[in-house]
Amino acid sequence: MSTTTTTEHQVTTALSGKPLAAQIRAGARERAAALGAAGIQPRLVVVTATDDGSTMWYVRSIAKAAATVGIECDIADLGPTASPARVRGTLRALSEDPLVHGIILQTPLPDGMSSAALAAEIDPAKDVDGANPESLGRCAAGLPGFAPATAEAVVRLLDHYGVDPSGRTVAMVGRSLVVGTPVALLLLERHATVTVCHSRTEDLEGHTRAADIVIVAAGVPGLIGAEHVGGGAVAVDVGTNATDDGLTGDVDAVAVDGVAGALTPVPGGVGPVTTALLLAHTVEAAHSTATG
Ligand code: NAP
Repeated sequence: MSTTTTTEHQVTTALSGKPLAAQIRAGARERAAALGAAGIQPRLVVVTATDDGSTMWYVRSIAKAAATVGIECDIADLGPTASPARVRGTLRALSEDPLVHGIILQTPLPDGMSSAALAAEIDPAKDVDGANPESLGRCAAGLPGFAPATAEAVVRLLDHYGVDPSGRTVAMVGRSLVVGTPVALLLLERHATVTVCHSRTEDLEGHTRAADIVIVAAGVPGLIGAEHVGGGAVAVDVGTNATDDGLTGDVDAVAVDGVAGALTPVPGGVGPVTTALLLAHTVEAAHSTATG
């Protein structure tokens, strides 16, 4: 359900991710049950190499969500001192294990390790978070494969709320390989005109204010204020920042209220859809294994 806030200027609609996430999870649960009846137990493994508390909390939340849809989820905790060879070897072994259908390499990784280089070891058929550069290439080429779940979540949320990106201008703030770049690729495929902004962009405000849709994945709490958003624009806040005030996004929700036409909340916006898609991708991967 979306809620609305009215000011004399603009009604800002809150685009909750929860209904869409519930819908995706229900579909995954149904498919997982059908696979179970056929003797296939969908299995996801999350590989971690960190002792960061909030990351481990997030990973455990994926495992709990997986259990609710009938996916077995293991955490392969390699610890913060794991070597690149150990991470690579683990990903290779999981890729070869016929009982494992989905693999996630969770960031952060120990200093100096490249997530993209290591994720190249994940079998693309099991790469449920689109981390293998081959998956990103497939995403760019419009070929079948798993897009990074967060990027897909952004597009699915726009679809869910009837925001058609075709012909619209989009300012994507952030160019990471897991969010900003794949979001830009997916929206180009959907015929949007996309400007990708980053830390060296001059006049960020000018780019974002001119856009019909502003998507923010920078990891900077409150980066986007009222001056960055054109009246009535749709704002999607991907940021999840642990602050003294709890989890906050990259958009200053109070400031843009009454300016933006719609805004995804943090928490409860992109995040739940991302988790649901990781589960749906795992079930899809298990299904592909079953059907060859
Ligand atoms: P990242 O790899 O650190 O990338 C951040 C991007 O933002 C970079 O492209 C950076 O530019 C740009 N940036 C940083 N400061 C900026 C500024 N002041 N102005 C304009 N651009 C700026 O982060 P990420 O992994 O993409 O994650 C971004 C945020 O999304 C984080 O808060 C993360 O926790 C969140 N996230 C949420 C989900 C979810 O499911 N909700 C999933 C993944 C990530 P440069 O390239 O020039 O450095």
